[in-house]
Amino acid sequence: MKKFGFGLMRLPLKDDDVESIDYDETQKMVDEFIKRGYNFFDTGYPYHNGLSEIVFRECVIKKYPREDVIISDKMPLFSLEKEEDLERFFNEQLERCGVDYFDYYMLHNFSTWTRKVTFNLKAFEFIIQKKKEGKIKHIGISLHDKPKLLKLALDKYPEIEFVLLQINYLDWQSNTIDSRKVYNLTCEYNKDVFIMEPIKGGNLVDIPSNVKTLFEDYKPDSTPAEWALRFCGSLDNVKVILSGVSNMEQLNENLNTFNNFKPLSNEEYYMLGQAATLINQNVVVDCTACNYCINECEHNIPIPKYLRTYNDYFRLPENQNFSATGYYRTLSLSPEYGKASDCDACGDCVKQCPQNIKIPKIMEKIAELFENEE
Ligand code: SF4
Ligand code: SF4
Repeated sequence: MKKFGFGLMRLPLKDDDVESIDYDETQKMVDEFIKRGYNFFDTGYPYHNGLSEIVFRECVIKKYPREDVIISDKMPLFSLEKEEDLERFFNEQLERCGVDYFDYYMLHNFSTWTRKVTFNLKAFEFIIQKKKEGKIKHIGISLHDKPKLLKLALDKYPEIEFVLLQINYLDWQSNTIDSRKVYNLTCEYNKDVFIMEPIKGGNLVDIPSNVKTLFEDYKPDSTPAEWALRFCGSLDNVKVILSGVSNMEQLNENLNTFNNFKPLSNEEYYMLGQAATLINQNVVVDCTACNYCINECEHNIPIPKYLRTYNDYFRLPENQNFSATGYYRTLSLSPEYGKASDCDACGDCVKQCPQNIKIPKIMEKIAELFENEE
């Protein structure tokens, strides 16, 4: 099953900085991916602060013939201010990627927040025109929103060929990311489904111990990532599953799962439903560490890091949660970062968050939890 796409959004890093990409390690991963018969890469304008598209150029396009690889990229709707920006971003992306056309190109995060700017600036018309010019082969949208909004786009623009959706066994029936409903709607309209976040930003690898036990009792040699990927790969109409792998081990785990792919049985499907219920009892904040929000905060609050620490506090046993407190203190005392209590609830980060997390409210709770203990 060659449905696995290399998501260039969580690349190996040399340190904590999202720009410190380890190019040597990335090159090795790209070579392994291609050697094993895969060729689909996905990037985006904001990934790694703009460096992801350049990584594609440096590690893929400079080494492999253009016609042997597939690239999908996205128009950053959330950064558009005027109509001319569409052309400017698009040309910049072609240049960064080192290509003269995109195989797949989508409007990135079409949502309640970006809907107005998308329609006002005629972003759909723009990508339709680029397809006519041969600069894009297939057009689509990425969406983390409600079925109603997806229906609006699909009715208004029948030219849309595919939809990139956040799908995994945890979000399948969740109220915020209702994967099942948007998936069914996409299929009803006969559009191809692209999947993102199959492992939910690592949250389905780093699972609570009772879920680990459930998996081990069922099939001791299967890893948590394998279960998550098999869930996505077992769905119909799926063109590609994009997984943002961060090291060779994760890449190999993904490749092994897809090379020896086994669709889920009914019993396994049911078992993953039980796993989702157990995980949901432990998840405090649903952050996938996508980093879309990190450049928004004037106070340099490292939002995903704080959310992760907050989750860890509740996930770890009581006698160990002091380490989460210690980690928060180390981060918040660093001159580089603002404290959670610096949040002025401006809401800029919320507009970028595909998971609709009420970040200012959580910052208040984080400040209360960690800063009051000082
Ligand atoms: S709401 Fe708070 S965390 Fe978000 S950008 Fe504004 S100040 Fe920063
Ligand atoms: S808070 Fe939202 S935007 Fe920020 S990293 Fe988490 S999921 Fe992404």
